[in-house]
Amino acid sequence: MLKHHASRPGRVLVTGAAGFLGSHLCDALLAEGHKVVGIDNLCTGKPANLAHLAREPRFELVQHDICKPFDFGPVDYVFNFASPASPVDYIENGVETLRVGSEGTRNALELARTHGAGFLHASTSEVYGDPKEHPQTEDYWGNVNPVGPRSVYDEAKRFSEALVMAYHRYYQVDTHLVRIFNTYGPRLQSSDGRVISNLMTQALRGEDLTIYGDGTQTRSFCYVSDEIDGILRLARSGEHWPVNIGNPEEWTILECAREVLAVTGSSSQIRFEPLPVDDPIQRRPDITRARRLLGWEPKINLRTGLELSLEYFRNCVQRGEKSRPVLAAPLSAATRPLTVAASGAPGRPSS
Ligand code: UDP
Repeated sequence: MLKHHASRPGRVLVTGAAGFLGSHLCDALLAEGHKVVGIDNLCTGKPANLAHLAREPRFELVQHDICKPFDFGPVDYVFNFASPASPVDYIENGVETLRVGSEGTRNALELARTHGAGFLHASTSEVYGDPKEHPQTEDYWGNVNPVGPRSVYDEAKRFSEALVMAYHRYYQVDTHLVRIFNTYGPRLQSSDGRVISNLMTQALRGEDLTIYGDGTQTRSFCYVSDEIDGILRLARSGEHWPVNIGNPEEWTILECAREVLAVTGSSSQIRFEPLPVDDPIQRRPDITRARRLLGWEPKINLRTGLELSLEYFRNCVQRGEKSRPVLAAPLSAATRPLTVAASGAPGRPSS
């Protein structure tokens, strides 16, 4: 299925295999007949995401930090999905996030180069920062604060995009860049502090739903099976420029909270909390390129996707897993606050 091996299954390596998207990607690749080597240092990934593959002879999980060079034998394709990805996680693991986007991604690219393998890198809508163009097309260069709390992720991903393009230009590695917009579904860590995980678990516990800022900021939420479908189509394509894969249906965070209340049947109240610094005000992918090049578009709307995720989050709550607030990162005296007051101007701290 991957274009290098249209006629036969290959050996595919997935970094970040124990993460939310990495684990779903492993499932999809195995379903297509490939052998899959998953790599994860378990910084934010969870072995439980791969527990169902324990008896799968075509799958192996190697615990390894890709910031150290690696080679686990010949591979036909490399999917580079290793990185903390939720704001709470990457702000807590700032230096690790910068390292995996730079050193780790370079090691993964070297592996692809050595074995003549295809390469797909998981980039992000965060490369657009707090966008001044809306919706975001792939040609928009973004509006990123290079020294703010989110910069550890945004700039790591921007650097890794440059690195991937350089390996394509200078070394002719067959690379692909997907810009992933907010994605959710089963295996999204209930404690990763993201909006869907927080709101779903808060609603199911009957706790207040935490809305940061006034809740008018927007996001576009893609269900995981749609996201994986788009990623695999891109991996098979001849496209080397970045491609947005996300759901273009745009929701304010308040509207999203109402959907969560409707799906869970919860009577939780809404509680407003300070907006994180540099929190993008609006985000919606322009998916014209994905439609045209890949014939892809999402099929599952937010209501249906939340319904499909309900049992998973219910189980998380039954296991006693907690949601995580945004203010989890250590603050040094020299660091500006990580949030601004709910009534303050969103996006920048006052100086
Ligand atoms: N958010 C919120 N309540 C929460 C968690 C997040 O209002 O409990 C907001 C957050 O400030 C942001 C949006 O929801 O505006 C999406 O946040 P998330 O962390 O899911 O991902 P992001 O798109 O910011 O990377």
